Amino acid sequence: MDTTERETIAAYEGPDSRRLLARLRDVMAGGGSGQDRLNEIVGLIAVEMRADVCSCYVMRAGEVLELFATQGLNQSAVHKTRLRVGEGIVGDIAAHARAMALEDAPSHPSFAYRPETGEDPFQSMAGVPILRGGKVRGVLVLQHKERRHYAEELVETLQTIAMVVAELVAAGELVNAQEISNQGDPVLLPARLSGVALNPGLAMGLAVVHRPQVTIRQMIAEDEGKEQERLSEALTAMHSAIDDLLAAAALAGLGEPRDILETYRMFAEDRGWLSRIREAIRMGLTAEAAVQQVQNDTRVRMSHLTDPYIRERLLDLDDLTNRLLLHLAGKKSEADGATLPDDLVLVARSLGPAELLDYDQRRLRGVIVEEGSPSSHVCIVARALDIPVVQVSDALNRIEAGDPLIVDGDHATIFVRPAEDIQDAFTQSMDLRARREEMYTQTRSLPSVTRDGVPISIQLNCGLLIDLPHLHASGAEGIGLYRTEIPFMVRSTYPEVDVQTDLYARIMDEAGEKPVIFRTLDVGGDKMLPYMSSGEEENPSLGWRAIRIGLDHPSLLRQQLRALLCAAAGRPLSVMFPMVAEVAELEAARNILNLELERLVEHGREPPSTLRVGAMIEVPSLLFQLPALLPRVDFVSVGSNDLTQYVFAADRGNPRTASRYDPLSPPMMCLLRRLVEACSEAGVSLSICGEMAGRPLDAMALIGIGFRSLSMAPPSVGPVKTMLRSLDVAALRQYMQGLFQRPDHSLRPKLKAFAKDHGVLI
Ligand code: PEP
Ligand code: MG
Repeated sequence: MDTTERETIAAYEGPDSRRLLARLRDVMAGGGSGQDRLNEIVGLIAVEMRADVCSCYVMRAGEVLELFATQGLNQSAVHKTRLRVGEGIVGDIAAHARAMALEDAPSHPSFAYRPETGEDPFQSMAGVPILRGGKVRGVLVLQHKERRHYAEELVETLQTIAMVVAELVAAGELVNAQEISNQGDPVLLPARLSGVALNPGLAMGLAVVHRPQVTIRQMIAEDEGKEQERLSEALTAMHSAIDDLLAAAALAGLGEPRDILETYRMFAEDRGWLSRIREAIRMGLTAEAAVQQVQNDTRVRMSHLTDPYIRERLLDLDDLTNRLLLHLAGKKSEADGATLPDDLVLVARSLGPAELLDYDQRRLRGVIVEEGSPSSHVCIVARALDIPVVQVSDALNRIEAGDPLIVDGDHATIFVRPAEDIQDAFTQSMDLRARREEMYTQTRSLPSVTRDGVPISIQLNCGLLIDLPHLHASGAEGIGLYRTEIPFMVRSTYPEVDVQTDLYARIMDEAGEKPVIFRTLDVGGDKMLPYMSSGEEENPSLGWRAIRIGLDHPSLLRQQLRALLCAAAGRPLSVMFPMVAEVAELEAARNILNLELERLVEHGREPPSTLRVGAMIEVPSLLFQLPALLPRVDFVSVGSNDLTQYVFAADRGNPRTASRYDPLSPPMMCLLRRLVEACSEAGVSLSICGEMAGRPLDAMALIGIGFRSLSMAPPSVGPVKTMLRSLDVAALRQYMQGLFQRPDHSLRPKLKAFAKDHGVLI
């Protein structure tokens, strides 16, 4: 658009929002039916906002938006014009729960003309979703005949008004309450729902629906000063409640969750968030309405963002909002209820880490959320507590409080009101699981040696402080992969050198005599840091990640290496570089390490007693440089997760391709066998730390081709040790000789048959 055109466009900042809210309050408090009040409200908005049209669409059963009231369109269209969610601009606003302000509405691709409304002469349009309880309940729209540019303030005012209208809709005065609660068709029959597994395990219990939604009775303030004061008091109460949780988490010895809660407390003190709430009170809202308005606004603004970190922070903010609303309402969290069942499964739209810890951990068996991801804070906490978590998108519509539930975190499934035979089957599975766990516990103190006497070193993959107790409990020899990026990912700011030093020192302290291999930051790809933007990448896993970032931003790598060297202080240190694609990269990284070592000595600090340097074998190009690589490293470790994705050109995170190729296939087995031979000739220690090392059958094949060191997640130690203690390596080696040249897609069936015939416990 050129400047002359823009100058002709009327700009309108918006009405005096305090006056408009005050008038709305009078309408809301006045008599008449819900429909009468809605008619009055659209009329009032049209006048105050100098709009030619103000219309309100309300969500009906079946995801249909019905025109409920209008000022400016044909009255005969009221209760007749209906749009599906996603249809037209109004449907688009509802589908994405986001505001739209269009100078030239008819040229928008979603524009759908409805002749019965008589809306053809209208040029510009601004609409906002009517949100309540995280759901879209309708859409509020302004239209103008003349073309105009809508200022952001106007859209914000419209959002505030939409909150007031939302109360009218939720009160059941427009659409009966039954229809509202039925939106989403509750099913009372037994149901089996598939979702996404966020944390493995099995659980059974009764549903406790976590609905922290507080009904806001009064939206418009009588006295601004009083509302600001109420907010301050509620904030103080909330801060002290979070402090109590922090203290309790510390008492319970929850290492990392405590860090997470601290990050969370920072959110609670976030000035931007608070000042937006205070501003909304200044506009005329009550403290509750202001808190809710800011949350709606944040959700709307961020709803289109797909960055998992930001989406998780949004869940944390939901949690904080709910807490603050509870404090404002002077209510206690429902987690306090003495009537909670002994075995409870928590069902929530979203859940923050603090909310999870509010519930009595002795009774909490499982969690079902509608939103969340495996790296969300609540999952990290749930993992520490060993609670299965499954994400099911419409869980709240399908589950009623008190419903018996089974959460199968191993198969991403939940059973709602399961039939008795299913309950019996799961009870048996849970008993079996408990017995198996018991058996694995017993292998802990037994030697990690095959039936024919070949010792196999079992190491752990860790990333959180709470993983460390497993190191001693599992009987593993050391940590074969410490993923340093995980502690970086759960923070909202970059950890300074001394914070990193403390963390690494704590890990070495906890590990004691057991060796730890620290892998330098492996971020990028699917592991983004909130405070480090790499911009959009078309192929993130082939993009700017791991050592590539470290070499392009040497200060980042230097700081991490400095922290590791300082933390070691006279103790042995092993450093491993991820995603090395060529020997020159390793050399460059090693030079940085040497510089930091010199600096350490110059500063008179004690260097590590030994310093071992290794590379991960994840990028196939490095396999073609083994003669140059092996003399330059003390050890290598196969990152089979990435190596498999690059060897087969199949995205490890894409379910369509991830399971298409099997690491137990001739190409991978041949390639890994050659690596074993090369390392053994060069006298370089070799390990493998990708997920396959922790799967008993895969681990068996790896041992068969010569691997003697496997690093895996803590729960895999028992099953893998049980397998190897029943394995005759010599027989397997001989059997596998005949497999490498086969044309098979996968060698898995043959290896399974071997295990069965030879009594290998897989
Ligand atoms: C791997 O790629 O196999 C590996 C261990 O690293 P990550 O899974 O952390 O990428
Ligand atoms: Mg990797």
